[in-house]
Amino acid sequence: MILINQLCDPKQRKLHRMAHKRLNKNKHHFFCPYCQRRLWRSGSPKYYIYYAGKTEIKKGFGLSAKNANFLVNQSYTQLNINVWLEEFFCEQDGRLWLHITRKETELSSRLATAEDWLRSTKTINPDGSNGTVSEFSNRISRGCSLALLNRMRA
Ligand SMILES: [Zn+2]
Repeated sequence: MILINQLCDPKQRKLHRMAHKRLNKNKHHFFCPYCQRRLWRSGSPKYYIYYAGKTEIKKGFGLSAKNANFLVNQSYTQLNINVWLEEFFCEQDGRLWLHITRKETELSSRLATAEDWLRSTKTINPDGSNGTVSEFSNRISRGCSLALLNRMRA
């Protein structure tokens, strides 16, 4: 509990602001890879990425070779909740999918690739439907032509 007279002290006020800032650090802004504008979350679900095999598990989880070996020997396929695909909206370029990685509190993003989709929860689908990949290719080709258009305009 913060007392009023503590809030009147500039030092305390600053501490209070910092604490407030820390609470809001989950609000990360993403920017368009084509035009650098601020992106808006489209409200799509997050599609998490699976890692299978020693190299991928090592890379995906930052594990030692020994631990990665252990997981592989357990025939382990891991869902990495720190890596996911999510749809965003750019005012200029429309909808696009980003591959997002969380390391502690830092988020980094890049455009999702078809390979990412093959590893996402969306493609590991009980009905084995392959529709997602072609849907994604369509998106990719749309995205590429938009990027080309933008380059031509620039
Ligand atoms: Zn854009």
